[in-house]
Amino acid sequence: MAIADVAASGEGEAGDDFDALVAAALPDGFDWDWPFTHDIADDLTILEDAISLVGDNPLVPSSSREAANRVAQVEKLATRLDALQARLLSELAQSTAWEADGHRSAKAMVKFHANLSIAEATARQQCVAMVRTLPKIGVEWAAGRLGTCQVRTLARAHANPRVRDHMPAAEDWFLEHGLADDHRLFASMVTNWVRLVDEDGTLDVNERNHRNRKARLTQDSVDLSWRLEAEMAALQGAEMDRILEEFIEAEWQIDWAATVAEWGDDACIEKMPRTPAQRRCDALHRIFRQAVGLRLGETTATIETNIVLDQATWERSLTRLAGAEVEPMGGAEAAEHLDDGHRCATIDGVPVEPVEAAAHSLVGALRRVVLDAASVPIDLGRKRTFTGLSRLAAQLGSTTCYWPGCDVASSACQIDHLDPYTPRPGPDPNGTQPSGGGATNPHNSGTACGCHNRFKERGFTVVRTSTGGFEVRRPDGSILERAQR
Ligand SMILES: [Zn+2]
Repeated sequence: MAIADVAASGEGEAGDDFDALVAAALPDGFDWDWPFTHDIADDLTILEDAISLVGDNPLVPSSSREAANRVAQVEKLATRLDALQARLLSELAQSTAWEADGHRSAKAMVKFHANLSIAEATARQQCVAMVRTLPKIGVEWAAGRLGTCQVRTLARAHANPRVRDHMPAAEDWFLEHGLADDHRLFASMVTNWVRLVDEDGTLDVNERNHRNRKARLTQDSVDLSWRLEAEMAALQGAEMDRILEEFIEAEWQIDWAATVAEWGDDACIEKMPRTPAQRRCDALHRIFRQAVGLRLGETTATIETNIVLDQATWERSLTRLAGAEVEPMGGAEAAEHLDDGHRCATIDGVPVEPVEAAAHSLVGALRRVVLDAASVPIDLGRKRTFTGLSRLAAQLGSTTCYWPGCDVASSACQIDHLDPYTPRPGPDPNGTQPSGGGATNPHNSGTACGCHNRFKERGFTVVRTSTGGFEVRRPDGSILERAQR
């Protein structure tokens, strides 16, 4: 019932006179229903009706540019609803509404009525706790600008009690990178931040993992299948991962050659004879088979695992290794250190523990590479192809293929001349193509997977940005960037 009707029917109580006066001062047709008889349930019904309006109509527009915008638009809506779910849980927890039916908590009530997995209920609870500490993150999430993936990454970090109190000091930094960076990069930034703020915890855990390393190969007595399980610390695992990747790549090449031989130009990934999982298993088998010919301690070829450390991290880690006290980093300091180009990972960005890496740099073959202010390795001279150190320098610039959205690891990529080595033949109607004659140095290099190195030849250009990143331009000169939410 609208307030004007209440006043006319005389049902109202004190305050109606004032409302009636206000009503008289307003133009005819003014919507009195809001906010006086405002009901959230009505809003949610309107929301549901609006979603129904979309109906079975095709969602994908004709142009790829509009399709990208559609993805962003639907994602924004879904994100806002995710934030709404979290707000509901948060408000429930602060009310007594969950108590009447004997639920143990608001989370238990939501888990039951929404029929959630334990993992999902816990993830939502972690988001609620994180947003209470980092309200600006909550605002951007609720507006749909910051994605749920980013929020959950922060929520998992927040669940670590040893870093929780340092998070508010880095809130602006989290927000800046969460809004701008690829999720993959953002997640590794957050992981690195946690490790910097909790150096002791990270070192303790890594040492414990190394002490508790184990491996076993066991057979199922019923179906006779075998299961291989192993656990190890960061550096040993990173090296094994690197070697395994190399063998998986070799299996992939065998499959691809067979596919091309059979299908010719129709060859595609779906027609390959083995699945990725099957190739991984066969790669592991091949490592065992190849080792059989060698006596213990003998090696044939070596597969290098390059660990990249920045100078500051290396020196800090050596100090810790020597047993000296190192001032712990606060949240803001850790964020600044990361923006200054902190690196302690393999070339593919697989993180390793800095003190363990520093220890190996003293006894083993660990290569340190000097990075400039934009994290681009220093120039290594003009050669036709990227080999040896210049290949390494090119790979150091990024941990994956430079194409937006591609996750092929840097070590599995080809090194591409951004401006081609040979002058480009043929017309250039838009004037967007590089002239050619590009140098073989890190500033003119990028890591591209085979697929994108070839796809680029359809008139795309790739340039380095001033911050050391990459920008891919379409043939019409526009930048291939994430659609705005
Ligand atoms: Zn790629």
